[in-house]
Amino acid sequence: MARHASPLQSLLVDDRFDGDVYPNEPMSRHTTYRIGGPARFFVRANSIGALTGLIDVCAAEGVPWVMVGRGSNVLVADEGFAGVVVALGRDFRSSRFENGRFMVGAGATLSSVVQDAFRRNLGGFEFAVGTPGTVGGALRMNAGSRDEWIGERVASVTTYRPGCGLVRRRASELSWGYRVSSFAPDEAILECELLAEAADPFKVRDKMEENLARRQQTQPLSLPTCGSVFKNPEGASVGRLVEELGLKGTQIGGARVSDVHGNFIVNAGQATAADVRALMDHVRRCVAATFGINLVPEVRLVGFREDVPREPAHAAPGAAVVPVAAAVPTAGMTAAPAATGARGVSAAVAAPAAAPTAPVSRERHG
Ligand SMILES: Cc1cc2nc3c(=O)[nH]c(=O)nc-3n(C[C@H](O)[C@H](O)[C@H](O)COP(=O)(O)OP(=O)(O)OC[C@H]3O[C@@H](n4cnc5c(N)ncnc54)[C@H](O)[C@@H]3O)c2cc1C
Repeated sequence: MARHASPLQSLLVDDRFDGDVYPNEPMSRHTTYRIGGPARFFVRANSIGALTGLIDVCAAEGVPWVMVGRGSNVLVADEGFAGVVVALGRDFRSSRFENGRFMVGAGATLSSVVQDAFRRNLGGFEFAVGTPGTVGGALRMNAGSRDEWIGERVASVTTYRPGCGLVRRRASELSWGYRVSSFAPDEAILECELLAEAADPFKVRDKMEENLARRQQTQPLSLPTCGSVFKNPEGASVGRLVEELGLKGTQIGGARVSDVHGNFIVNAGQATAADVRALMDHVRRCVAATFGINLVPEVRLVGFREDVPREPAHAAPGAAVVPVAAAVPTAGMTAAPAATGARGVSAAVAAPAAAPTAPVSRERHG
């Protein structure tokens, strides 16, 4: 090791560091857009110790860091990210079911929860079928549909924040809004408890199939995307506004406004982040000029200088942000911090003999 290695470099080359370290890792490998320049370090932390040690060193050294899940809602700049991109590995992918709730690591996929709930004749997660990404990303974004969202199912979330340590927040201490949550920007989500309810498996399957069919009809699932690019303004649909303006099919470089859904910008082949940004700016200008509406991106921008409207500033953890969710009953908390629990999600769970077969989401981007 170089004599003048920084504490971050020392940590990352330490044999005892429980994580996978990829220097200068192209982020195009870690985003559903297949776009993004190199992260100075892409690190998959496999244990709580590795994660907290890494975040603490970054915070102490002033090295920028950002969490990433499946990268299904991020656009990374072509220049990449001059810091550490942190992903959750091994110990954060566990899931177990006890007393009517799932204890899930934030690195588990949302679809694994959907499928596990279905196998257990439980309902409440059908809305999420086909939504790519991890549980951590879903909680940060409060992923969902127009009428249902993940925050509604939350009993508690365990997070880590430099200076605050590991904290377990109960539902009553969290707020959820339209694609926004009350976690602090530098708060890493590690695991959560999600409430499920007994349900008729045939009804659950019907709802899942309906949701999947709607996605297949209305979303461009065969090309790399990040899902909806902009948030829908109050009382309006970006898809419809874009369609009214005749912007579907508009292309800049390799980025194209989808012919299928006006709020999706697809990577039609070799698109750069600059192409996507230029197209986003074009759509925003056209919508502002005609409808007087300023569109706010839903997609999270990583590695860019902030010259687009920001996400509304995060409230301090626990403070309210445009609450849309009805309060979830507060769960009786256990003292246990971030769990490692059983591994291998639902593989061990046999489907009940009479249960219908779960529709499997086409996560082409996942
Ligand atoms: C085809 C397609 C369909 C989609 N459909 C939907 C939909 O129906 N509804 C919907 O809401 N979204 C949808 N999305 C968007 C996206 O899938 C969701 O927002 C998803 O929840 C993001 O999860 P992720 O793990 O990919 O997060 P990422 O995209 O990796 O990250 C998203 C944000 O969460 C942060 N983050 C990630 N993990 C953590 C963590 N552990 N701790 C703290 N912060 C974290 C990141 O820093 C970033 O700000 C869709 C996307 C695609 C490509």
